[in-house]
Amino acid sequence: MMRALIVDDDLFSLKLLERQLTQARVEAVATCDNALAALGLVEAEAERVDLIFVDLNMPGMDGVEFLRCLAERHFRGGLVLVSGEDTRVLQSVAALARAHRLRLLAALTKPVAPERIAELIEAVPGSSGTTVIQAVPKFYQAVEVADAIGSGQLVNYYQPQVVLATAEVAGVETLVRWQHPEDGLVFPDRFIPVIEAGGLSDRLANAVLAGALRDARRWSAIGLHLRLAINVAMDNLTELGFPDEVAQALAAAGVPTSGLVLEITEGQATRDRLKLLDISSRLRLKHIGLSIDDFGTGFSSLAQLRDIPFDELKLDRDFVHGVGRDPALRAMVQANVGMARELQLRTVAEGVEDRSDWDCLRDLGCECAQGYFIGRPMPAEALPGWIAQWQERRLDLLAGAR
Ligand code: C2E
Ligand code: CA
Ligand code: CA
Repeated sequence: MMRALIVDDDLFSLKLLERQLTQARVEAVATCDNALAALGLVEAEAERVDLIFVDLNMPGMDGVEFLRCLAERHFRGGLVLVSGEDTRVLQSVAALARAHRLRLLAALTKPVAPERIAELIEAVPGSSGTTVIQAVPKFYQAVEVADAIGSGQLVNYYQPQVVLATAEVAGVETLVRWQHPEDGLVFPDRFIPVIEAGGLSDRLANAVLAGALRDARRWSAIGLHLRLAINVAMDNLTELGFPDEVAQALAAAGVPTSGLVLEITEGQATRDRLKLLDISSRLRLKHIGLSIDDFGTGFSSLAQLRDIPFDELKLDRDFVHGVGRDPALRAMVQANVGMARELQLRTVAEGVEDRSDWDCLRDLGCECAQGYFIGRPMPAEALPGWIAQWQERRLDLLAGAR
């Protein structure tokens, strides 16, 4: 039996949502016109509330304080934010709920569409018909990952990057995966932190680069000449010999230095600025591309952009998907694309998930796009087939078909 609780000081909203939930066959719906009372109810029978709808703007305890109290009480049910406030506020509070590790199912503006209610009920943890399998995150030891690098268990996947104006394929980003003998395909967020903490970044970068160059050779044998991007942490830019090593590896594989882009993210170690500037300048002198990855997040900032001779700016997916519908995102992307143009940086947007993202980025003058709308990361062997299919879709995109 599913139990929902609605917290809203506005009686009309309260009644409307109550009726919608009853129509969606939620068996028990409780309502509270203030957060304090709601909290009392949750405290009294926490395990009996599966789903809470909470309004943000309430006199007395507001929605933000209510979330904080729910988090303190380790509330494990589903949570839906409902608000008449503007979407920026709603989005910030949604981010806050996730930071509190609450199970946020949605953040909705009033009035709530009935079909959204039905979807939400389906998504409630433990509701009939849905079993929530709690994947227990497995933590790997540095030695395990080191062995995996040594025994060749890391494999490169490649995700296409295409030119927005012409829909031509420009290059691929190399994304590493661990083909684990027991656990299957393991994604980088599960082992990159171990690599960085264990001082294995250089070994990883070498393995990924070697694999990418092997694949690039195979592609060029069938006439595919693609710009290769690989991810490196700033921690990789501490050995003065790095630019020469990379240049030698490229020469040995017959790939021009201008065919490689290093996507750089902030590492964990405190960096030696002198070395960083020395190394990055020498990479650029050799015409190896340098991209500032995840631009706009964390430490990937204007200060980096000022000092390091980047020639590409990679817009993080957090700023990209939804850009066609969200005026705030659009303003941020527009400003960044404009700045990049002034600085003569190529812009690549990652996280392009639908046609509206694509159209908006093209209209804003962003150069390249990458994301699920175009193609998912794939093994090297799959790339030629994807390119053949893309030529068909490319025509549709250019012809403006939807
Ligand atoms: P990143 O460099 O920001 O890479 C983009 C991530 O976004 C990839 O996740 C990719 O699969 C995902 N992605 C691509 N298109 C879309 C989209 O349309 N929507 C959404 N929601 N996601 C999309 P992945 O492969 O799991 O990689 C995660 C991170 O791991 C990367 O983030 C990068 O920081 C790191 N990483 C991956 N490979 C390497 C590597 O070889 N070396 C290092 N140092 N880090 C790596
Ligand atoms: Ca990247
Ligand atoms: Ca990113």
